[in-house]
Amino acid sequence: MTQPNRRRLVLALLISTLSISIVFSSPAIAAESPGAPESPAPFFTGAPDAAAFQVGAEAELQAARDALSRMLAVTGKRTIENTLIPYNEIMLHADNAAYGSHLMESVHPDSTFRARAEELTQRASKFLDDLSLNRPVYDALVEIDTKKADPPTRYFVTKTLQDFRLSGVDKDEATRKMISTLLEDLTKTGQDFSRNIRSDSRTIQVDGVADLAGLPEDFIKSHAPGANGKITLSIENPDYFPIIRYAQNSEVRRRLMYEDLNRGYPANMAVLDSLIAKRYRLARILGYPTWADYVTVDKMIGSSKNASDFIDRLRETTFRRAQDEYALYLKRKREDDPAATQVGKWEMAYYGRLIRKRDYDFDPQEARAYFRFDLVKQGLLDVTSKMFGLTYKRMENAAVWDPSVDAYEVFEGSKLLGRFYLDLHPRAGKFNHAAKFTIRQGVAGVQVPEHALVCNFPGGKAGDPGLMEHSDVETFFHEFGHLIHAILGGQGQWEPVSGTATQRDFVEAPSQMLEEWVWDPKVLQTFARHYQTEQPIPLPLVDKMKRADAFGRALNTATQAYYAAISLNIYNTTPDRVNTDAVVADLEPKFTPVPRMDSTHMQTSFGHLDGYSAVYYTYMWSLVIAKDMFSRFNRENLLDPTVAREYRDYVLAPGGSKPARELVKGFLKRDYDFKAFDSWLAGKD
Ligand SMILES: [Zn+2]
Repeated sequence: MTQPNRRRLVLALLISTLSISIVFSSPAIAAESPGAPESPAPFFTGAPDAAAFQVGAEAELQAARDALSRMLAVTGKRTIENTLIPYNEIMLHADNAAYGSHLMESVHPDSTFRARAEELTQRASKFLDDLSLNRPVYDALVEIDTKKADPPTRYFVTKTLQDFRLSGVDKDEATRKMISTLLEDLTKTGQDFSRNIRSDSRTIQVDGVADLAGLPEDFIKSHAPGANGKITLSIENPDYFPIIRYAQNSEVRRRLMYEDLNRGYPANMAVLDSLIAKRYRLARILGYPTWADYVTVDKMIGSSKNASDFIDRLRETTFRRAQDEYALYLKRKREDDPAATQVGKWEMAYYGRLIRKRDYDFDPQEARAYFRFDLVKQGLLDVTSKMFGLTYKRMENAAVWDPSVDAYEVFEGSKLLGRFYLDLHPRAGKFNHAAKFTIRQGVAGVQVPEHALVCNFPGGKAGDPGLMEHSDVETFFHEFGHLIHAILGGQGQWEPVSGTATQRDFVEAPSQMLEEWVWDPKVLQTFARHYQTEQPIPLPLVDKMKRADAFGRALNTATQAYYAAISLNIYNTTPDRVNTDAVVADLEPKFTPVPRMDSTHMQTSFGHLDGYSAVYYTYMWSLVIAKDMFSRFNRENLLDPTVAREYRDYVLAPGGSKPARELVKGFLKRDYDFKAFDSWLAGKD
């Protein structure tokens, strides 16, 4: 998930990433360790309270302002040394302030701290937005002679100038003022949208244990009835997914899903309308017909029309197969209810599981027993350290925002490459999906990359083995794919194109590719051991799991295409023609045979409509590339570091210092294509 309203600053990648961070240790302050100029203190050093955190963020913004003054004060010939380097410093410090605040507003356990962090995010965003419209800065950058510079530097300058023009820097002053006001508004509106989702944590109550029939024993044990004898169930993931998959009582599933699909309603209806209207206005001022036209222009896909064609292609490839799959759901339901004429949305996960159990002999509970949280976590660390030749060292007694958070340093040999924080279990007021948050982008010789994974997995409580669904394990690998991209790509010179700051519709390729590792029997056997018997996961079980996974693939892909269509269609026209309820209702039957659930408003909790705005197609676009890149790996030995090394060198290490198409071509030795994706969609993989 990212902050869409600013071009340069991707705050977080959701089931994917987001963040920025702050600090205390601007490199100057961290000079207490004089021998290690490349490793300033970790960003949360000293475990600051809200006031101290603010001081740190303000120091970063001041450092950004100082670099700006230095850059503008130069007289005479503009060079990389006297202009581009100070510009890089401006971005580094302002981004540090923005990223750190954004992380804190999403994770800090204290609501006062979170509120303070929101204000700091606004200030940092305002600084960055103003910078993007600062004509003297743009003019100075234009004057730099880059003929003799290395290719990453030339690309960085070209891309930066393009970003400035897309921001409207070449408009007259009155127009730039209007843009600036709109951007400021958009930051706040986006925060309202996220906050309304975060804080609307709904629950339902059920009468007693009988209503939990079908649920795993550990779930029932951790959901004891309250004083009134009723059991409370929440729409947060650790309750939501088990309920919709396992609860025999259909009404319990329906009630919980209804609340989930109304999260953020009604508050976010108006907020979303406002986001749509403001973005449209901004796009018009900048000379584009719609926001979707504007926001796709610097992506791999290149235009709103191409995005629409891509979504159509997905619809055409999945439509018939999705109907066939749905017919199997209905057939299965009729065994319970011969008069049934349709399968409700709240019945899909439940019957999907039953079909997989009987027809594919796969029971996710059987697999779940092999995915104990702490073993999965260690396994993921071992797998990726082996693939990429890295060592992760846990930072004992590291300062963190919550005691449940773990911090690690990443080394290659004796060289510190970066740090990461794992905040992996639910907590009140915490961001409730899964994302990689940036804290600091790496800049060689100045600061190492620091990133956080913010997820909501089972476990973390005394006496709870934290048994994960296989889909949780997949999410964990996905987010870690972003993390490793950010760290390995965060070793260059230019902060704004560091790590995952690559073309937005490529960002989900490395993360989705790493998901492949959780389907490999040899990889799984390195860490998936039964939580009671310690036996490694049996190969036949992995086999069954893979076959079962292919069932429902067309429906799932069709659903993703439907989400992508919502995202594009609310932004590719004039706002007066957009009624978000109508868009959602009109599109759904065009993509999926599953009937709509009345009186629900999924768009009010679809956080990506802010972060990704019109470009949610990104996930599927990146998946096409991920499937193709994966085809180069040796499936007999996914832990072999040879191909992983090439992948690291060609795709991850350059970060955003080249167009994504070139990164992929370097690795594949050809342009990517749809073959591997189409074959996967046809269930051949
Ligand atoms: Zn992602």
